[in-house]
Amino acid sequence: MSDWTTIVGLEVHAEMLTGSKMFSACPVVDSVEAAPNSAVDELSLGFPGTLPAVNALAMEYGLRVGLALGCEIPPFSQFARKSYFYPDLPKGYQISQYEHPLAVNGYLDIDLPDGTPKRIRVRRAHMEEDTGKLTHAGAGSLVDYNRAGVPLLEIVSEPDIRSSAEAESYARKLRAILRYLGVNHGDMSKGILRFEANVSVMHKDDSEFRQRTEIKNLNSIRSLARSIDYEAARQIKLYENGETVRSATLGWDENRQQVTIQRYKERADEYRYFPDPDLPIVVYTPEQVEAVRAKLVELPDAKKARFIEQFGLTAYDADVLVGEKAVADYYESAVTTGANPKSIANWILGSLFALMNTEGASPEDIASIRVTALALGELVKLVENKTVNKGSAEQVLKILWDNGGDPSDVVAREGLAQVSDTSAITAAIESVLASSAPMVARYKGGEEKVFGALMGQCMKALQGKGDPQVIREMLTARLQG
Ligand code: ADP
Ligand code: MG
Repeated sequence: MSDWTTIVGLEVHAEMLTGSKMFSACPVVDSVEAAPNSAVDELSLGFPGTLPAVNALAMEYGLRVGLALGCEIPPFSQFARKSYFYPDLPKGYQISQYEHPLAVNGYLDIDLPDGTPKRIRVRRAHMEEDTGKLTHAGAGSLVDYNRAGVPLLEIVSEPDIRSSAEAESYARKLRAILRYLGVNHGDMSKGILRFEANVSVMHKDDSEFRQRTEIKNLNSIRSLARSIDYEAARQIKLYENGETVRSATLGWDENRQQVTIQRYKERADEYRYFPDPDLPIVVYTPEQVEAVRAKLVELPDAKKARFIEQFGLTAYDADVLVGEKAVADYYESAVTTGANPKSIANWILGSLFALMNTEGASPEDIASIRVTALALGELVKLVENKTVNKGSAEQVLKILWDNGGDPSDVVAREGLAQVSDTSAITAAIESVLASSAPMVARYKGGEEKVFGALMGQCMKALQGKGDPQVIREMLTARLQG
């Protein structure tokens, strides 16, 4: 196995979140919620005698992505007809871009598992229209044209990806960028973001790439990674048995967790591309390109570098925080309270994420939880100034999660203020020691781990509200005395 390397190139299809379709004023609707065929017009249905017009906002969204990926923007791009016959494409051709894409020669930097960065080249990003959606039902098929004509950006990488883990970080990073740019929600279950993996394997003695296969319509990042591993292993096995890999289009069977062969390709598909005579070429002047670039939001890599620099975070913590823009915004808003930025990061990535996870919330939901960013910052300050200890702060967090509110109010109402008063702590220590003679003896006999248990009992005697540092010091002094 170790003689082989996996080679992957990804093609990503991202719908652009515009209100209307790519070439007409027909509205774009939610693919899951809307009734089938409730958002169609003559263009979506490919009626003869209709004329497309370019959706300028969709183009600008595509341009944002191109710029965010460091692409060059050629002086013009041009639409072309890609001919093929399929019921989800009533015109008999898809309007796409072929020889003159919107953006070329970009890159995406990913982090390898050991933390080192790696650059994956992006060959091109071009604008096209989505097709309708077919559902096979019994002897027939149902077709929904709501999706037909929705603006779709196709982003094609070079075959620079060397493992399923790299493919996964590329996919996550690209999804985050699309969300940052506000051009796509990244909801893969709704099919608005779809991945296709081109996979081949290379032997250590090879000097050229081998035959690739293409896995279509992967609708989660997990299936992307699993299907690549499966397919690479399948190809290696074929080669090791003296067989060859044939060019093929594959699917991923989620239930059986295996690749299925949809069709072998004996020769390249012939799409008979030609420039669409109904559409003008699209020109962006350098000034227009720079105007769009100037409006780009701060992207994940830049934000990560700034978080490390400005807040002293570790690369790992910064990376997780910026992975989702809503989380990064929440974090920065919490920092404005003046609480320690590192402690806030720990609270978000530790206790808050754990709570969100148990409650079935995903990171992007952070924008709408009852624990506001300012409340979290205030809570961290209450721990810092020793108003509450860590354990009680966890309780406050849960109360805020359920009801919202102000952390100081919760502390007062629930009587969770930390006990640092030495007379109360002395009393707790004395009662614990009086009822724990055997443990005290073991401690004095050298069994130091018993100390933790005694600490725990003192904390319990103080209803969990004691100042752990004070208890520790006083208990140590008392046991040594
Ligand atoms: P086309 O044939 O459509 O001009 P390519 O075949 O060069 O384009 O590439 C299509 C996609 O397949 C790209 O994402 C590219 O990175 C990927 N790809 C090309 N060759 C290989 C290979 N040997 N192994 C894996 N992926 C590949
Ligand atoms: Mg395409």
